[in-house]
Amino acid sequence: MAPTEIPPPLPGKKRRIGVMTSGGDAPGMNGAVRAVVRMSIAQNCEAYVILEGYEGLVQGGDMIKEMGWEDVRGFLSEGGTLIGTARCKSFMERPGRLAAAKNMVLKGIDALIICGGDGSLTGADKFRGEWPGLVAELVEKGELTAEQVEPFKHLNIVGLVGSIDNDLSMTDATIGCYSSLGRICESVDYIDATAFSHQRAFVIEVMGRHCGWLALMAGVSTGADFVFIPENPPSDDWEKEMCHIIKQHRDMGKRKTIVIVAEGAIDRNLNKITPSMVKDLLTNQLGLDTRITTLGHVQRGGTACAYDRMLSTLQGAEAVKAVLEATPETPSPVICMIENKIVRRPLLEAVKQTHEVAEAIGAKDFDRAMSLRDAEFAEYYQAYNITTSSDQPKLRLPENQRIRVGIIHVGAPAGGMNAATRAAVAYCLARGHTPVAIHNGFPGLQRHHDEGAIKEISWLDAESWASKGGSEIGTNRGLPSTDLETTAMCFAKYNIQALFLVGGFEAFTAVSELRKAREHYNSFKIPMVILPATVSNNVPGTEYSIGSDTCLNSLIQYCDACRQSASASRRRVFIIETQGGASGYIASIAGLSIGALAVYTPEEGINIKMLDRDIDHLRETFARDKGQGRAGKIILRNEKASKTYTTEIIANMIREEAKGRFEARVGVPGHFQQGTTPSPMDRVRATRFGVKSLQHIEQFIGKSKDEIAADPMSAAVIGIKGAKVLFSPMEQVESKETDWKDRRPKDEFWMDLKSIINTLSGRPQAPKGE
Ligand code: ATP
Repeated sequence: MAPTEIPPPLPGKKRRIGVMTSGGDAPGMNGAVRAVVRMSIAQNCEAYVILEGYEGLVQGGDMIKEMGWEDVRGFLSEGGTLIGTARCKSFMERPGRLAAAKNMVLKGIDALIICGGDGSLTGADKFRGEWPGLVAELVEKGELTAEQVEPFKHLNIVGLVGSIDNDLSMTDATIGCYSSLGRICESVDYIDATAFSHQRAFVIEVMGRHCGWLALMAGVSTGADFVFIPENPPSDDWEKEMCHIIKQHRDMGKRKTIVIVAEGAIDRNLNKITPSMVKDLLTNQLGLDTRITTLGHVQRGGTACAYDRMLSTLQGAEAVKAVLEATPETPSPVICMIENKIVRRPLLEAVKQTHEVAEAIGAKDFDRAMSLRDAEFAEYYQAYNITTSSDQPKLRLPENQRIRVGIIHVGAPAGGMNAATRAAVAYCLARGHTPVAIHNGFPGLQRHHDEGAIKEISWLDAESWASKGGSEIGTNRGLPSTDLETTAMCFAKYNIQALFLVGGFEAFTAVSELRKAREHYNSFKIPMVILPATVSNNVPGTEYSIGSDTCLNSLIQYCDACRQSASASRRRVFIIETQGGASGYIASIAGLSIGALAVYTPEEGINIKMLDRDIDHLRETFARDKGQGRAGKIILRNEKASKTYTTEIIANMIREEAKGRFEARVGVPGHFQQGTTPSPMDRVRATRFGVKSLQHIEQFIGKSKDEIAADPMSAAVIGIKGAKVLFSPMEQVESKETDWKDRRPKDEFWMDLKSIINTLSGRPQAPKGE
């Protein structure tokens, strides 16, 4: 996500950039509009919004409106789209597009950023292709003069994908999809409680006509018993297969049944599979008390989750850069996200590939339909299947290849720890391995005489853990080094043949200790994988730790509440202290997601000049605010940003300097940041990475202890690095990538984002050399 160099605007001319939202609304669209408007202004351009999608472009006049910096204040925390969206029939026809072209020239706009679904983006590219012809026709008809159109020879189009379905190919996530998934999971969690109480079955229909992303991810996140998606319909005798799996779950002691059906669910002959068909089967074949819930437009609504706010902000900023860098020859780009990397892809190709999915489904070529979705989708599908049913004889390994896998949580609890453990347990059982819980971390292991300290986990034990917060097997910060002797003895005594660790920097330290102690203790010569899980996101070897997304969601909820209170009482700034240890990740990304006025991190520290500038900025911002509302301001300060300038001291300084013109309050969310229910992103990634970790461990089956110890990949950390998910050898990560003193990675990817955070909040920059 390194910022690219932006060429300066043409001398004497300010570019005018238009932004619109089109198609179905999606949470996060407002964040994109805010970012485009502010980034355009910051780049010395003029920003315009087009109201009501293409309708505004066709009608022109007041529907195309210049926006100032302050006009988008508060946009990040609003749901839907504040500039309106519509389905516009007239833009589908050339005369509509001709009117749109005329209005754009009259307003002096030659670049358009469209946030919408594949239909909106197809329309945009068509408009661009026709542009020279449209402009020539306007001159021919005498509606515009040659002079008027002269500066508008080319139209620049940049697409942002705003769609809850996550149906566009070439991107892992569309703006709105994780908010929508959050809404679905919240609803399923509620239904789950009722289903459990009454031992009922629920069939839940979710959105997605040609795309099963929401249904599949909801299935992974909630541990649903069966999922129907359009890309990969179930086998021909799906009725029997579904009933068999559900009966088996019930026989094993499960009290409830959840089946998720995508709107576009079909069988392999393209016949629709409806929730009522599923309900009839569950009622008649299995005798289950079954209800149907159609979630409908609830899935679209509400404010955006932290990820969508971040995604829309970064993509909006990138879209402005793409406009400024475009040449007449550059194909129209769409801004995409691959794992953790913002990338540009050719818009037409992405749309074409998206349409091919529907075509492949129509032609019953389901393998192709699956392959046209990104690789991540297929991995989730596989993870879902493996973790849903333990009775999969085809997956079972021969007896001599089965091992006992120790599972341990280390450090503070983080959202997704239980989902990762559930996935590991289910994977082990499907393959014939024995999953063994080491309760309460390494101190728990070292107290192995305690009853239940080390215990095999059954499928039913872990089955309901997908959505649970905290740590079901117990976690502890203690390290193996407290008592290496006993730790090694326990590994041997309980025949731990592989270790799967879930935790933060302590878990990372624990693996480092175990790896180094291999020369003295044979029982540590086993494959070990750590799945980073911590709200601080400070584990080297990955750009993302599970739990950090849950934390960000809790934090923005807290900040939204503070801002609302501050707006209501007017002219108030909240200084909010975040967790994160010596890493400013949480503070910075929360700052990006809520539009904080300033973010103080340990990496940068705090100094008096910085505070002076920020207080001046506050004064100016409050002076400019003429009571149009949304006046609450937030400053985020990481708990370790400075020993001297504590949160309280900063608030006092601001109060003193404000001289009664505004006031300052302190907010310390503390452990609230660990969240309650894990976010869907943490749950699905925990599941996917949990399965991948066990697959990695399996590569060492059959190898001798010395062979294992000699292989650097036998002690590894799984993580996201840029656009890839990969395993990194501990040996390399701990020696080259770790800042041991500050307990964080040496190279923190998000530092590149700081300039965007500051630009979009209008924060004054430090003069060079300060
Ligand atoms: P969603 O994913 O929510 O359906 P979408 O962008 O795909 O979003 P559409 O209704 O397909 O939604 O398109 C929105 C608008 O984009 C249409 O009402 C129309 O104005 C314009 N549009 C769509 N397809 C085309 C096209 N082929 N040519 C011109 N304009 C189009």
